[in-house]
Amino acid sequence: MSVLEDNIAKLDGYLARFREGGISNRIAGKDCAGSQGLFQTISPVDKSVICDVAHGAADDIDTAAHAAHDAFGEWRDLPATERRKILIRIAEGIEARAEEIALCECWDTGQAYKFMSKAALRGAENFRYFADQVVQARDGQHLKSPTLMNITTRVPIGPVGVITPWNTPFMLSTWKIAPALAAGCTVVHKPAEASPVTARLLVEIAEEAGLPPGVLNTVNGFGEGAGKALCEHPKIKAIAFVGESRTGSLITKQGADTLKRNHLELGGKNPVIVFDDADLDRALDAAIFMIYSINGERCTSSSRLLIQDTIRDAFEAKLIERVQNIKVGHPLDPKTEVGPLVTEEHFNKVTRYFDIARQDGATIAAGGEVVGDEGYFVRPTLFTQATNDMRIAQEEIFGPVLTSIPFATEQEALEMANDTAYGLTGYVWTNDLTRALRFTDKLEAGMIWVNSENVRHLPTPFGGVKASGIGRDGGDWSFEFYMEQKHIGFATGQHKITKLGAL
Ligand code: NAD
Repeated sequence: MSVLEDNIAKLDGYLARFREGGISNRIAGKDCAGSQGLFQTISPVDKSVICDVAHGAADDIDTAAHAAHDAFGEWRDLPATERRKILIRIAEGIEARAEEIALCECWDTGQAYKFMSKAALRGAENFRYFADQVVQARDGQHLKSPTLMNITTRVPIGPVGVITPWNTPFMLSTWKIAPALAAGCTVVHKPAEASPVTARLLVEIAEEAGLPPGVLNTVNGFGEGAGKALCEHPKIKAIAFVGESRTGSLITKQGADTLKRNHLELGGKNPVIVFDDADLDRALDAAIFMIYSINGERCTSSSRLLIQDTIRDAFEAKLIERVQNIKVGHPLDPKTEVGPLVTEEHFNKVTRYFDIARQDGATIAAGGEVVGDEGYFVRPTLFTQATNDMRIAQEEIFGPVLTSIPFATEQEALEMANDTAYGLTGYVWTNDLTRALRFTDKLEAGMIWVNSENVRHLPTPFGGVKASGIGRDGGDWSFEFYMEQKHIGFATGQHKITKLGAL
């Protein structure tokens, strides 16, 4: 049996119970039907129905928000060391079921197993990392003044909503849910409608690890129904959102009446800038990895290559050769590098850019075509002869599609890099240290890597500027979002209190 056949057989075993009974919502530790009936989740690999999913909306969110509210006091007051133990057990549960999570995620989203096997383990790391921060999360400062001993402390904000997208959904969900639980918040999770399977696995693992009922609740459904209701619910104190920029703006509007605190991690059109003095072999590897891994469905992807004109021809020639060699195939085949795009809608969006590129006068130097008609597969694509004002250089395509644009000077590269609505990441390749310092200082992005692809380090701040988001998480920044700072001042003596009404 080949590894692919073996993976398919294992996946069948894992999915059997969902094919039989569908995926329910999970509220207060109980399976619940959706108030709107069912919807189906479809595999992008062969367009087959994976299973039915409970279709939740405002009523289901209301029940879940109340469950999270009711569970909050006990979870908040649990000794930090106890909360830590549960989070560690969740990490162990994820590790024990990493293969199941990875195979299900690949089938639900089209992501290649090559990358998803690690994404499941990164989910476990997220729980371990924040488990280790639990004990200090509430510690504050002593700020002595002449008359007062001022102290600060942090308390969890309350029940929070977590709304996640379909790209690497398991890892991204843990990235939000782990710090929320570590902070002492309870959670209502609304996973993306296109990828509900692993959200179900996460809540199961969490409950098996001893998470009390109601601390993590999962309500499936669509953005305009369940998602909107979560943003509007008065018992939900904050929304941690990952998704498109235009949805981020809706999240803000929907939360206005209840004065919601929002953390928005949104889209990107991230530049990788390659100067002619760089290590070009490494720059090539990194540029390819950052746009063609994870199907290019990654917010931090380097979707714009800004290449110095002195090395452009040679660099693009090597790029074309490599892009044409990328292995597109069944996501459960461990050799596959690019799998199918997540949904029909997204496939249509990405493939429309092949026409847009031609209409705008760019050249399709590689790819630009679909692969077969069984699933939503496209060839990894490279656009050349492009300019930064073209739609292919300005709009987030969110697929394995790279736009290459030449520049002559550092100043021109900087202007092009910043000439976008987005500002999530930037990747700078140069061996000139002072240029790197100058350039990164002026580059408009929340996260920048010099001579490196995106290498995530959990204590560092993650987030974007401009249309790429508001707020940061990672390290203590996550606790800043899920917790409230509280100041308490203790008088240290009999300082003068101004008397009113006393003659
Ligand atoms: P999306 O905005 O369409 O959906 C994300 C989630 O929001 C889904 O669960 C959806 O149901 C929900 N939603 C939709 N409308 C809503 C509404 N009115 N109210 C509440 N919830 C609503 O995004 P997507 O297509 O699933 O994901 C891809 C996008 O996510 C890309 O733009 C990508 O760049 C972005 N992303 C950003 C980061 C980051 O860290 N900055 C990480 C991953 C993905």
